[in-house]
This record gives sequence, structure tokens and C-alpha cells, in this order.
Amino acid sequence: MHVEDFDPKQLPRGQKIAQRIFIAGRADGGAWRLPLLAVTGQRPGPTLVVTAAVHGDEYEGVEAIPQIFERVSPAELWGTLLMVPVCNLPAYETSQRSSPVDGLNLARVFPGDAGGSITQRIADWITRNLLIHADLFIDLHSGGVAAEIPTLIGYIHDDGDLGRRSLAAARAFGAPILWGHPMPVPPGRSISVATDLGVPSLYTEAPGGGYARPDDVSCFVDGVLNVMAHLGMIDHAPGQRPLTHHLIGDGNLDTIHSAPAAGYFRATVQLLAEVESGAHLGTIADFFGNVLAEIHAERAGVVIMLRRVHRVHVGDGLVHITNRVE
Ligand SMILES: [Zn+2]
Repeated sequence: MHVEDFDPKQLPRGQKIAQRIFIAGRADGGAWRLPLLAVTGQRPGPTLVVTAAVHGDEYEGVEAIPQIFERVSPAELWGTLLMVPVCNLPAYETSQRSSPVDGLNLARVFPGDAGGSITQRIADWITRNLLIHADLFIDLHSGGVAAEIPTLIGYIHDDGDLGRRSLAAARAFGAPILWGHPMPVPPGRSISVATDLGVPSLYTEAPGGGYARPDDVSCFVDGVLNVMAHLGMIDHAPGQRPLTHHLIGDGNLDTIHSAPAAGYFRATVQLLAEVESGAHLGTIADFFGNVLAEIHAERAGVVIMLRRVHRVHVGDGLVHITNRVE
């Protein structure tokens, strides 16, 4: 199948379809081909798009998507399920967050560029062929190698129709933590383009670390099936996990407490700790044990992200704090 040929509306009904779609040629004469898993129901209904490994070192969704594919039967499905288990193929090959081919972070280049480099082309293909057809979109992320984040479902926090549908789907997903992000969503993300297209979206996080905990994979599998039941696509839902936290705040992990000095970072707080403004968050030291910088909270809130890799360069993100919903 060529990149220009794909149209989910033209897919045969009542099928499970697993194929690779040409995105761009490789310098060695091969091709970058995006894996696509689709289930087309025999009955009409919504279109749900699910993606994973937008960052190449986040594995939970890579494992969850084939399990979802296995569990959804075309005979019992209303509508269409479209899933890409690995979006950033070059980054996945090298277990990196961003692409080693063009150096780009796929979560910063949406809606992409059909005439651009490989990362821009992947974003363009996903935007033009999947997101524009979606009634709801779920992007499966996790903390990757560098950062630790609790298992959560992120949604667009807004009083409008899109925000209400995003929150309802997030509650249906059933992760232990809800994290809402007020509009506007920062540009370049898959969910920012989905929002621009009027498509309600969700994304996940999990501790990650180059390892997919089976419980997180299971949470993501159950979550997608729960959302499908919420949308009326399937009859039976696995059920939600108990909600422990509902948090609201800027989800832009580019704007966090960052390292004022290079060195060895040791956090002194735990994930989900509630901290006051000025609380001690961590220390950066050198090889001789000298403290180079003490990191203090610039605001009160809940610790939602901690840097995992101890070695830090100046400007590396260390700690992100968000708000609890009262
Ligand atoms: Zn990610």
C-alpha cells in the first residue's frame, strides 16, 4: 500500500487488518514503513485512533496495542479502531526519545510536513490519514528513559464541548490519576493538532524508564477498551482503576524546574509528594561531593515528574509540579 492510497473509510468492513504503510525511503535503499493495526466493525460507529511510541523510548503502548488488537472482534465492534504501535520508527530503533535521523522530537512537529524530513513526514501522515478521521484520539506515552511520571491519563481541561468529551473519556479510561491541561495546548503535539481539528484527545503517562511494567500495559489495554465501551464501540468494558488524584496544570514538561548547573542530580522528593513553595526538591553535586546547586520549589503543588537520569546538563528538566483539584 502506498502512502497516498490509505483511506480508513475505504477499508473493507468486518476485518482485522495489519499492514505497513510506506512513509519515506531510507538511505540504504529500504523504506520507513509505519505499522498499522486496524479493526473495522461490521456495524457503523465512531472512529478511535490510538498511537504509541511517538517517543522511541516509551514501550507501554507498543505492548498494549497488539493486545487490544487481539481482544477486539470485528463482529462485536461498532465503528473503526485505527492503531499505530510505533510512530517514531527511527527513534524506536535506537531506543531514543527523538529521531537519530533528523534529530527531531515527533511530539513537537505536528501537524508535520509531507515534503519534510522523516519525523515531519510521519507527523503529516498521521495527521492527514488518521487524526482527521478520528472521533476520539488516544496517544500512549510514558516517562521514557530520562523522566519518571506516575501512571495517568491526561485530558484537555476546558468548559467547551471538546473539553467535556475529553474529560468524560478520561474518566472512562480509568487510570489512577487524571491530569487536565487548560487550553491552549502547546503547539507541535499530536493532541494539539487533534484539538485544532476539533477531535477530543487523551494521552497517557507511566513511570517508564525503558521498561514497560506489566501493570501499566494492562492499565493502558483496559483503558482503551473502557473508552471504546464509553463511545459505544464495544459492549463490555474491563472497568476503571480507583481514582487517587485529579490534577490540573500546564502539562508542558519543557517548562519545569531545570538544572542551573551540570553535575549529578539527586532528588529529595518522591513522585506525587505535596510540596510547599520553597521546599527542597533535590541537589546537584560534582564528583568530589561538593554541592553545586540546591533545587527548591518555585511553587506549591504536587510533584508530577522527576528526572530519572542522574547526570544532568545545564537546562535539563528536573522536577515538574502541578495543582491538585480541590
Ligand atoms: Zn512521550
